[in-house]
Amino acid sequence: MTHEEANAQQLFRRGIVKRTPLDNGISDEVELDCGHTIICIVPLGVGVPVFCSECLHSFIAREREGKTLEKIIYSNDRQLPLKLYIYAYEGGTKHGGGVWVRHTPKYPDEEITTPEALLAAGRAQAKGEEIRVCNGSDFCVFHSRNGQVIYPPEGFDMFWESLLRQ
Ligand SMILES: [Zn+2]
Repeated sequence: MTHEEANAQQLFRRGIVKRTPLDNGISDEVELDCGHTIICIVPLGVGVPVFCSECLHSFIAREREGKTLEKIIYSNDRQLPLKLYIYAYEGGTKHGGGVWVRHTPKYPDEEITTPEALLAAGRAQAKGEEIRVCNGSDFCVFHSRNGQVIYPPEGFDMFWESLLRQ
C-alpha cells in the first residue's frame, strides 16, 4: 500500500450502522453512516470504522468534474460578437450568466454594446470580480480575477481598446 492509499483509507473510514449476511455465507452487506452500502467480508461489528470505497469513488468523480469545468483554453481570436461573463460568489458558489457583446446589438434585450461591456468590465475589475470574455468557439480571450489580468498579456486597457477599434 502506498502512502497516499493509506491516507485515503483513513480519510474515507465510516462507521458500520447495520450488517446483513448475504446468501453466499462469506460476505455481508454493510450499511455505513455515510449512507452508502458496501459488501464486506471482514466480520466487524456495528460502530467499527471501515473504509468506504463508494465515498472514495464519488470523491474522485467530483475532483475530475471540477478539473474539467475549470479547464480554460485561451485564444487570441477576439472577433466580435464575444460573450462577457462577470462572476459573483455567494456562499462559495459561482454565479453569473453571459451576455453577448456587439458594436450594434442585433437583439437589444439580450445583447450589449462594446462600450457598455467596457463599462461593466471596468466596474467588475475595480471590485476584483472575476471577468471572462469568450469568443464564438467558447475560447477565453480575456480573463481577470482579484483585479489581476490573467490573459491576455497586454492587460485590461489594451484589450478593451482593441475591441472598440474592431
Ligand atoms: Zn460512503
